[in-house]
Amino acid sequence: MGFAHKKVAVIGGGLGGMAFMNSALHAGLTDIHLYEAANEFTEVGAGVNITRNANRVLDAFGLREAMLWKSSRDPPCYMEYRHYRSGEYLGQIEEFGEPRSRQIHRAHLLEILMEKVPKSMVSTGKRLARIEWDSSNECHQLHFMDGTVASADIIVGCDGIKSAVRAHLSLADHPIYSGQMVYRGYVSYDDLTAETAELLRKTVNFRGPRRHVLTLPIGNDESKTARVGIIGFMTEPLDRWESESWLAKAPVDDLFEHVKDWCPAVQEIIHGLRKGADDGKILKQTLYVREPTPTWFSVEEAQQGSGTVLLGDSAHSTLPHQGQGAGMAIESGFALAQILRHWDSEDLSAALQLFQDVRKPRTDRITKTSYETGKVASADIPEEMWAASFSPDLMRERMKWVMEYDLLGELFAKQAAASSKAAASSEPMPDVVGSSQIASVL
Ligand SMILES: Cc1cc2nc3c(=O)[nH]c(=O)nc-3n(C[C@H](O)[C@H](O)[C@H](O)COP(=O)(O)OP(=O)(O)OC[C@H]3O[C@@H](n4cnc5c(N)ncnc54)[C@H](O)[C@@H]3O)c2cc1C
Repeated sequence: MGFAHKKVAVIGGGLGGMAFMNSALHAGLTDIHLYEAANEFTEVGAGVNITRNANRVLDAFGLREAMLWKSSRDPPCYMEYRHYRSGEYLGQIEEFGEPRSRQIHRAHLLEILMEKVPKSMVSTGKRLARIEWDSSNECHQLHFMDGTVASADIIVGCDGIKSAVRAHLSLADHPIYSGQMVYRGYVSYDDLTAETAELLRKTVNFRGPRRHVLTLPIGNDESKTARVGIIGFMTEPLDRWESESWLAKAPVDDLFEHVKDWCPAVQEIIHGLRKGADDGKILKQTLYVREPTPTWFSVEEAQQGSGTVLLGDSAHSTLPHQGQGAGMAIESGFALAQILRHWDSEDLSAALQLFQDVRKPRTDRITKTSYETGKVASADIPEEMWAASFSPDLMRERMKWVMEYDLLGELFAKQAAASSKAAASSEPMPDVVGSSQIASVL
């Protein structure tokens, strides 16, 4: 039964929105449409690391081969740490098991997620302006900036950190500057010496006081997608930030100023960025700390049978120090689609509550531990203590629970808890997440 007969609107076609479309189609939701503000689907920035917890979900959708074709091929470890000045090896984190992490160009990941989504189910150039309740038809009306209107029973807000759907739910956000700017770009392997090119075939973290440069081995040679993704986390005062946007461009020289006395491999990276950037500029972005969102949907709305729910960065944006933002969106999308498809009553409010109960403890914890990991990675400690201050084993331990997450088990456990609560209150409780159907997918 579930809500398969309801009309679902997805707002935002980034990695979160497109991942949800895959989840929804896979679960069997059919009356679903995605509205994207931009005139075309694009992803900017360096590559992205999709870790095993999220890859399990993508593989269940049948995207494994497409992912492997365009992502890194079995890097030897999860991450290797290097001293920022000497370049000396500091240790490494082993992988967490199959499927391994995959490093991929963001645009390629978006293309892969779009492959199975029929074009008739997506509209571009549709920037949501506001949502209104239509009492005569008992559904929501979506008003877009271009003057058009659409209707929906369930609205899934995947419209990122400046979410209009979030604003509709009156969820005020008070982001605090993290103290760090992030510089992002690509380097061609051809622009590096053989030794550095070999080193950067794995994920390397050049760890320095209050700064670190992370490199991702994006893509592979066979599909001609191989390149090095560069993400430089640099401590800078916010008052030097001249852009009005949270994402802008800055000269490679700005990054160089931070790392000019770092090891030769980092100097090669700067050289490679200069060669690769036509205008001498790379992306620069402010990193903000956000408190976890208190609630992801409106109970009152959902009780009317037509509701709004948040997913992805609009609900659980995080600092990127554990590489989990897109991964969390992929997991959340899977959970939401399964619950919507297999829920066994008309009670949308209870269904969305289960979704939030399943996902929010994990995403809140990731938000908190990502903040802590950022502090460890870019700690403010004297230089002579730098190499000794760090333990890869400890870092691995911090990430283990993230990687070993059992989404299916979590859905079952919450379902059982919900059922026993209902039995205790002697109200009939449906088989809320359709255990048998879900069991077959992961
Ligand atoms: C430096 C950095 C490195 C990162 N590295 C990783 C990593 O390695 N691994 C990982 O898993 N995550 C990583 N992340 C996090 C990840 O990029 C995000 O969590 C993810 O992209 C969020 O996707 P989203 O779809 O929720 O939001 P967004 O990507 O922001 O997409 C929102 C979409 O909604 C559209 N939109 C906005 N407003 C409207 C509107 N009013 N109407 C219609 N459409 C609208 C936008 O145009 C956009 O397409 C990183 C983030 C940063 C900053």
